Amino acid sequence: MSLSGKTQVVGIFGDPVAHSLSPRMQNAAIEACGVDAVYVPFHVMKAQLCDAISGIRAMNIRGVNLTIPHKEASCALVDSVDEHAAMIGAINTIVNDNGILKGYNTDCPGFLKALKEEFSFDPCGKRVLVLGAGGACRAALVALAQAQVSWIGVANRTRVRAYNLIDELSVKFSGTTFADYQLDVSLLDKCEASVDLLVNASAVGLKGEEFDFDPTGLVNADGAVYDMVYAKEATGLLVSADEKGLKTADGSSMLAAQGEEAFKLWFDCDPPARLMSKLLADHV
Ligand code: NAP
Repeated sequence: MSLSGKTQVVGIFGDPVAHSLSPRMQNAAIEACGVDAVYVPFHVMKAQLCDAISGIRAMNIRGVNLTIPHKEASCALVDSVDEHAAMIGAINTIVNDNGILKGYNTDCPGFLKALKEEFSFDPCGKRVLVLGAGGACRAALVALAQAQVSWIGVANRTRVRAYNLIDELSVKFSGTTFADYQLDVSLLDKCEASVDLLVNASAVGLKGEEFDFDPTGLVNADGAVYDMVYAKEATGLLVSADEKGLKTADGSSMLAAQGEEAFKLWFDCDPPARLMSKLLADHV
């Protein structure tokens, strides 16, 4: 890598940020595409977020990714946000065009791209059950509803969060039927019919935890299970699904796909296919 006065700077704001795999993925793509740029991790704490975002303008940084805990708070600090990000209420990418900052949520298209790559999954007319009701779930729901799934169930530990989420989204997506559930063994009886896709968008599995019941029995025999958690060892959910002969994939494809979408927004070119996912497979 050779830096010059013309080198563009992109990066990631987060706290913590040292564990992030994005610098590896993005710098590899920058090199492969021959773009004159560098991707830098910035350790930005909550109290400094406003200054850090002003710094993007002041230092003519081309753009940044945002990770925990900045995805929601950043929405109010940029000049505009795209349609998906507005519905999700969170951004994970900022693009700086001549001092005008626009926010995007690339988890949304990244999630659909991962489903297509992993399972050739076309959401139109399908039934999908999503576990969790946090930020990742919101991105998945907006992506799925926009892609015209016919039915979405949301099961969460704190059921009222699932209820509030579908209450908000059902007004915006009248073509999709929504239902909320408690995320416990009662889900197995309450969920009326089997689903084409089960998505874990909860934090269960992140630290090796397992669900205390098995939701994979709700999936059609030719269906799929996508676990947004990415770890070296397959999660208990994916092991159960695999034992039933279901298609399975972990969250590394979504992580790579959201990174590819951000790269395209900054540099207007596609990183080589599978480069980011291969790097993740080598380093997760
Ligand atoms: P978040 O906003 O903090 O939401 C966390 C969700 O997990 C909530 O629904 C929470 O339920 C639930 N949860 C936490 N601990 C639980 C437990 N012990 N039992 C049952 N439910 C539990 O987090 P997020 O940003 O949505 O992220 C959720 C997961 O997706 C994380 O594992 C994250 O790493 C992953 N993710 C992956 C990607 C990717 O690119 N692959 C992108 C984004 C996120 P309550 O509402 O009851 O607290």
